[in-house]
Amino acid sequence: MTPLDFDARHLWHPYTNVLDPGPMHLITGADGVWLTRDDGTRMIDAMSSWWCAVHGHRHPAITGAMQAQLQQMPHVMFGGLTHQPAIDLGRTLVGLLPDGLDRIFYSDSGSVAIEVALKMAVQYQMALGRTGRTQFATIRGGYHGDTWKAMSVCDPVNGMHGLFSGALSIQHFLPRPQIQFDQEWSEDTDVNGLSALQELLDTKADQIAALILEPVVQGAGGMYFYHPEWLRKAHEMCKAHDVLVIFDEIATGFGRTGELFAMHHAGVVPDIICLGKALTGGHITLAATVTTETVARRIGESDASVLMHGPTYMANPLACAAAVASLEQLSARDWRAEVRAISAQLTQELSPARGLPGVADVRVLGAIGVIEMEAWVDPAIAHGLAPETGVWLRPFARNIYCMPPYIISPDELSRVSAAMVSLARGMS
Ligand SMILES: *Cc1c(COP(=O)(O)O)cnc(C)c1O
Repeated sequence: MTPLDFDARHLWHPYTNVLDPGPMHLITGADGVWLTRDDGTRMIDAMSSWWCAVHGHRHPAITGAMQAQLQQMPHVMFGGLTHQPAIDLGRTLVGLLPDGLDRIFYSDSGSVAIEVALKMAVQYQMALGRTGRTQFATIRGGYHGDTWKAMSVCDPVNGMHGLFSGALSIQHFLPRPQIQFDQEWSEDTDVNGLSALQELLDTKADQIAALILEPVVQGAGGMYFYHPEWLRKAHEMCKAHDVLVIFDEIATGFGRTGELFAMHHAGVVPDIICLGKALTGGHITLAATVTTETVARRIGESDASVLMHGPTYMANPLACAAAVASLEQLSARDWRAEVRAISAQLTQELSPARGLPGVADVRVLGAIGVIEMEAWVDPAIAHGLAPETGVWLRPFARNIYCMPPYIISPDELSRVSAAMVSLARGMS
């Protein structure tokens, strides 16, 4: 059996039919923006390997830090023990995050960080004697991960987990904010959609622990960019009812939208923030849930007294060392200028897709470029074309999109844009 035959026969891939997995590439190397196949074919990773590899693959500063940590201590448990990489990363995160967000819970993936955030919110409300506040509010079109409770706050109809809707606990879904990022804001609450939130809070706040959402950019729920003013207003309204606000910045954190965190577009600080994906620059899995002194203190003073969570590999030293090195890279380089340049180039180079038949919308925010089609896009087509175009794209739903590493050169980015436009053209 060849390696690819074995893979097809025995290995599950994400969101992929086991009987018809489509084209599969055996990758033997990843360096900078490039992926190399076993036969030597090279492709630009326009996905940053699911939005993580912001500095490119196998960055010497990050692999170097990991190698040094590997020699010293790949792992120890975090219960009762601590270590320098966890402390160093903590210092870095507290320095990067707005004042107030400074109580950090490490975990091993984004979905788990969401589970932790939801638990924190419920435990906070319980600590205040509000035992009825066990549900969550969110907006339609969201995506928060694949674990059970995280699934319950993903879009219930068009999201990835509609299949399970009958088995998930009921949450409160608000309409997706209708005013887009670059449209003019309207104070009319029927137009801006905030009347639905007001009504929910007026009638059901006593059942709701928190509002959870992806600030400004909804990622895997449809690559949708909405107006930051919605967040400012929603945050104020939740505050008035002591409904906590949780921002899922797993996809948007660390510069992707043009601000260090997407919440900065709105100037809003949530009660809890979830980080993941680009945290280690795409080198190893790690996530964090960060909250305020107020929330942490309430839980500490409660009858439960402890946050009921503790992953086996919590604060894995190898992952923390990678994250410290990745965040040092971010501080050392002018990522803001890099993202701005990517944004300008994508805006220009994707615009020819606007006129194509079958194209519903073209939009760019930060280092995210999207061609939204009217029909569903088969990822297998993009996967099959990749060796020929030299660009690795994985469309989802109706979206052909890229989230390239910030270090991509203008020539390489032109190849990405060309591959996206040509894919859209091929579909129309
Ligand atoms: C990817 C993602 C998650 C889940 O993270 P995993 O590491 O895949 O578990 C949660 N929320 C958002 C916004 C994401 O993009």
